[in-house]
Amino acid sequence: MSRSEALFQAAQQHIPGGVNSPVRAFKGVGGTPLFFKHASGAYLFDEDDQRYVDYVGSWGPMILGHRAPAVIDAIREALDHGTGFGAPTAIEIEMADKVCALMPSIEMVRMVSSGTEATMSAIRLARGYTARDKIVKFEGCYHGHSDSLLVKAGSGALTLGEPNSPGVPTALAEHTITLNYNDIDSVREAFAAVGDQIACIIVEPVAGNMNCIAPVPGFLEGLRELCDQYGSVLIFDEVMTGFRVALGGAQAHFGVKPDLTTLGKVIGGGLPVGAFGGKREIMHHIAPLGPVYQAGTLSGNPLAMAAGLAMLNAISAPGFHEQLSAKTELLVEGLEAVALGHRVPFTTSRVGGMFGLFFTEQEEVTRFAQTMQCDAAKFGRFFHGMLAEGVYLAPSAFEAGFMSAAHTQQDIEFTLAAADRVFASL
Ligand code: PLP
Repeated sequence: MSRSEALFQAAQQHIPGGVNSPVRAFKGVGGTPLFFKHASGAYLFDEDDQRYVDYVGSWGPMILGHRAPAVIDAIREALDHGTGFGAPTAIEIEMADKVCALMPSIEMVRMVSSGTEATMSAIRLARGYTARDKIVKFEGCYHGHSDSLLVKAGSGALTLGEPNSPGVPTALAEHTITLNYNDIDSVREAFAAVGDQIACIIVEPVAGNMNCIAPVPGFLEGLRELCDQYGSVLIFDEVMTGFRVALGGAQAHFGVKPDLTTLGKVIGGGLPVGAFGGKREIMHHIAPLGPVYQAGTLSGNPLAMAAGLAMLNAISAPGFHEQLSAKTELLVEGLEAVALGHRVPFTTSRVGGMFGLFFTEQEEVTRFAQTMQCDAAKFGRFFHGMLAEGVYLAPSAFEAGFMSAAHTQQDIEFTLAAADRVFASL
């Protein structure tokens, strides 16, 4: 028995399912999750001392690779001064100034400790600001696990939303309208029917939780127009895309300006951080300036701020995102070529430093229904084949992959050579 297998058995005694977040349990691909003990640059090392080229990057934050010296040094320096004060610190101003400079739609920003907190708080703020209860979200987008957002569509687009999980009150789910991503007509219809009751639209500007699906031309622009027309708040959930698809996030990449933005992952440099921010006029409604309550014991934690700020400064280097994009392109185009060589039906997507792998005959995947038609079983075989070759992909057919600055051309060549053998065996 490997050490990971033994640890997984031991973990299940006192940890539900042996993991502290469900996707880590490998349910989507079968088998036993690996337990990791060390990471460096583009590599993860498991408890059995196997090395893996890592395309998960802790689910997005590790855009510089693991243990980036700039980030580690900043954390060490902050550590010498204390691990938290629960009171204002100078570095929080630096962080806020930096975020507002990188994303000009953000005029004020509040730090929180996770992406879930960021989206939950942004929804509350939008509801408080507009004095409306309904929210619009899209099937296949994930915005964390708060009650209003764990909701799926009812039987028709405009029927009442249904809880996606036991424990979410039906009465709350009824306020969430779940529509089709990349289908602006469905959004137009919803607004025509109940637009004056809709507080906000929340959307992943590139969907990274149903594999990786870019917005079709006109989709984000259409959401912007509808929100303007009906006085609703447009929230871009850039927890995944922020600082990754471009320095200024998806809003810079696609040139559409949201009213509020939620952030996470990269902004924390690998420590637990999230943030939400946007128009000054809306942010003025947050406590203590305004009546919408939001708070956090660990918000703006100095270690987390130091790590995040060091990461944001490092990725602000000229050409950083161009290089990241070029490497992502090299990887996914290489994978497509290898798959084609073995006649495996396969296509990819990419935006900046994130990418998707689809086992499908379809030429392009732009809708949730299409991503659900992909061959998840074949992905599972590909995943395990790559794992055995020393390449760590997200253990699910429905998650985006992430490139880092630490990945070298040799790492990508190593990955493609491994994929060549694995595609041959599928
Ligand atoms: N929003 C998006 C787009 C995400 O991808 C995630 C997490 O993957 C979240 C929100 C929730 O963030 P967290 O897991 O930090 O609570």
